[in-house]
Amino acid sequence: MGIRRILIANRGEIALRIHRAAHEMGIETVAVHSTADADAMHVRLADHAVCIGPPPAADSYLNVAAIISAAEIAHCDAIHPGYGFLSENAKFAEIVEAHDITWIGPKPEHIVTMGDKVQAKRTAGALGLPLVPGSDGAVSELAEARRIAAEIGYPVIIKAASGGGGRGMKVCVEENSLEALMQQAGSEAKAAFGDATVYIEKYLGNPRHIEFQIFGDGRGNAVHLGERDCSLQRRHQKVLEEAPSPVITEAERARMGEVCARAMADMGYRGAGTIEFLWENGEFYFIEMNTRLQVEHPVTEMITGIDLVREQIRIADGKDLSFSQDDITFTGHAIECRINAEDAFTFAPSPGLVTAYHAAGGMHVRVDSGLYAGYRIPPYYDSMIAKLIVYGRTRERCIMRLRRALEEMVVEGVKTSIPLHQELIRQADVLSGDYSIKWLEEWLQDRE
Ligand code: ADP
Repeated sequence: MGIRRILIANRGEIALRIHRAAHEMGIETVAVHSTADADAMHVRLADHAVCIGPPPAADSYLNVAAIISAAEIAHCDAIHPGYGFLSENAKFAEIVEAHDITWIGPKPEHIVTMGDKVQAKRTAGALGLPLVPGSDGAVSELAEARRIAAEIGYPVIIKAASGGGGRGMKVCVEENSLEALMQQAGSEAKAAFGDATVYIEKYLGNPRHIEFQIFGDGRGNAVHLGERDCSLQRRHQKVLEEAPSPVITEAERARMGEVCARAMADMGYRGAGTIEFLWENGEFYFIEMNTRLQVEHPVTEMITGIDLVREQIRIADGKDLSFSQDDITFTGHAIECRINAEDAFTFAPSPGLVTAYHAAGGMHVRVDSGLYAGYRIPPYYDSMIAKLIVYGRTRERCIMRLRRALEEMVVEGVKTSIPLHQELIRQADVLSGDYSIKWLEEWLQDRE
């Protein structure tokens, strides 16, 4: 029969992104929104809209009962969760399926496995992915923590099993501070995620963050769509992403991509996913897997020509993958800049009225954003207001075009991170691709 009407359980640019893919497939869309988002672009563009609650996300975009009711009232036959909010909530996925609504996402059991980082690491190891050396599971006793840290060598990083968004991590450089940091990490994890479980990993000194996009049909077939380099980070949050990575050779991409695809095939993974690694001295170390679409997915779309959201919808609808590994080719280079409503250098949030807006355009320039002149950016949600994605036949030409596109972007009334990106892409290390996950914070410090 096929999917005919999708409820988009999200807001902002990703809600628009999903709406676009759906409409191109002839599928109707239903937007849900909080009272703060009544005038948002995703609400304006969707075929139907349902208000699901007051501004706080806990009462609206995370309100499972309200979202399921909206899907029932609007006769939706599928739900796409986007990223963030309920996208990695296995309980929600199960409830959706229990209501005979198609869940556009992975099997709930895989969301559970990968959502617990301790379990995820174990599973990844068993599937043959290389791991960061560390504890084999959760660590609760100080004596055990001491033993493991001594074995792998300091510095170590204490991470929350339920962590996400770069939160709940403590770097420990020597044994004397281990006890205090273990306690701190545990109580912060408890407060943020309701789960005090922590584990220990070797802290890598100067790695890059490299992740592989994968796709599975849920029936034992899987492919990879190459890697993205997301090393430019601030507080473990990605700022700019590119594909391909400037440091990964074609042979490495094929080898590691194959390892990832085989792991996903063995697992019977369904839909889109990302396997994240740290990369140092030519070695990959698995850190986590995200069982959803990622913010930075467009750079992969630019170099492969594949619409990842369309593919997600097809797979959820029970169709086969629309490409084999041999069909996937990588051409050119793409970079994405995350544009936030915040001061470019102090990072202080800057919500409010957008008085003027002009999106960059021209050849190979894509802007994913729900902004318009007269829109009031609400203070309740994530500060990302736009993504600028630029393609070039070579990395150099991509950067030249990005420079031009950033010049063209106009967002007035609020502060944005556009000036940060303009400076970033003029730095010698960024131009040469010679940066690690430490680079951005060090550069910001030197700049002060
Ligand atoms: P989250 O789920 O919170 O995003 P991740 O495990 O994906 O957490 O890690 C986020 C970022 O934290 C990585 O991209 C990297 O910058 C840093 N990080 C995580 N693990 C390590 C490690 N073992 N050594 C050094 N840096 C790390």
